[in-house]
Amino acid sequence: MRIVLVGPPGAGKGTQAAFLAQNLSIPHISTGDLFRANISQGTDLGKQAKSFMDAGQLVPDEVTIGMAKDRMEQSDAVNGFLLDGFPRNVSQAEALDVALKADDVKLDAVLDLEVPEDEVVKRIAGRRICRNESAHVFHVEYKQPKAEGVCDVCGGELYQRDDDKEETVRKRLEVYHTQTEPIIDYYREQGLVVTISALGKVEDVTARAMEALGR
Ligand SMILES: [Zn+2]
Repeated sequence: MRIVLVGPPGAGKGTQAAFLAQNLSIPHISTGDLFRANISQGTDLGKQAKSFMDAGQLVPDEVTIGMAKDRMEQSDAVNGFLLDGFPRNVSQAEALDVALKADDVKLDAVLDLEVPEDEVVKRIAGRRICRNESAHVFHVEYKQPKAEGVCDVCGGELYQRDDDKEETVRKRLEVYHTQTEPIIDYYREQGLVVTISALGKVEDVTARAMEALGR
């Protein structure tokens, strides 16, 4: 299966992508991983990406598309893949179509994770991260530490990242609405969109997604 996963920040896309890829035995291809791999391996595309990032500029679509195309052509992706974080705008979606067509393959589905906006804000703005170890993540409502403001794991101080502040989250949602949501309409015209609610437990959302994908 060739799947594109879309959803606003805070929809749990990364987590769902990992579970779905495992259940479907296909690689999970995330833009973040693509960038890290290309930069650490020093590929031409990685060098280009790094020069833009170092200059504080957005990496151009061509570079991102090039990385995604290289990855989709690797042997483990012959029978499918799950794209997470790409395409993120209509021009990337169009370029993806061209790349897939050149390889004579097609997308099977675009899985759209739906979360109400207020829930997104609650999920992200409630996150508290440990100063010692960023993997120690808590939530003021959903995963409260035993003592307020203190990490259960190591005793470190918990804080709210700037990226997680409500105002920033609202801005990220705005970018999602203007840049990424139009790809849902783009794919709807191709009859590919499957929308599911991303509310509830992680495993329930995965089960819902598998059912919607007909698996
Ligand atoms: Zn900690």
